[in-house]
Amino acid sequence: MPSAQNDPLFSVADIGVFSCAKCGKPMKLSCIEPAEPGFDVRTFECEKCDHTVKFAVSI
Ligand SMILES: [Zn+2]
Repeated sequence: MPSAQNDPLFSVADIGVFSCAKCGKPMKLSCIEPAEPGFDVRTFECEKCDHTVKFAVSI
């Protein structure tokens, strides 16, 4: 299965519920950092296996 995590752009709606790519558990939003104007970077963290994923999100 191709890794969708490499796609940097997700809408806010798409990112509302997100599952860990490694264990499938729901990931929690752990950090929001400002990026370019109109975008921020959201870090999701898995409580089960500590896997983290970052997304650039249009706001
Ligand atoms: Zn996990």
